[in-house]
Amino acid sequence: MDSQRLQYFEKIENPKHREFIDSLSHCVLCGTVLELRHTKSDEETQIREEAHCPQCEIKTRAKIFALN
Ligand SMILES: [Zn+2]
Repeated sequence: MDSQRLQYFEKIENPKHREFIDSLSHCVLCGTVLELRHTKSDEETQIREEAHCPQCEIKTRAKIFALN
């Protein structure tokens, strides 16, 4: 467990940050809860996160996480 990750979780406990995180999980257009999809790359060194609104059929964000 690295210290950066620990700090991240501590910040979530702050109500203001939690509100901010909640707002990120809802569609900005219609407020529907976004569906998150995580897909591994072929090399399995990265995870791609896509947030998708089932109502508007839009993809609001796509992130890439490196696994190592
Ligand atoms: Zn929407």
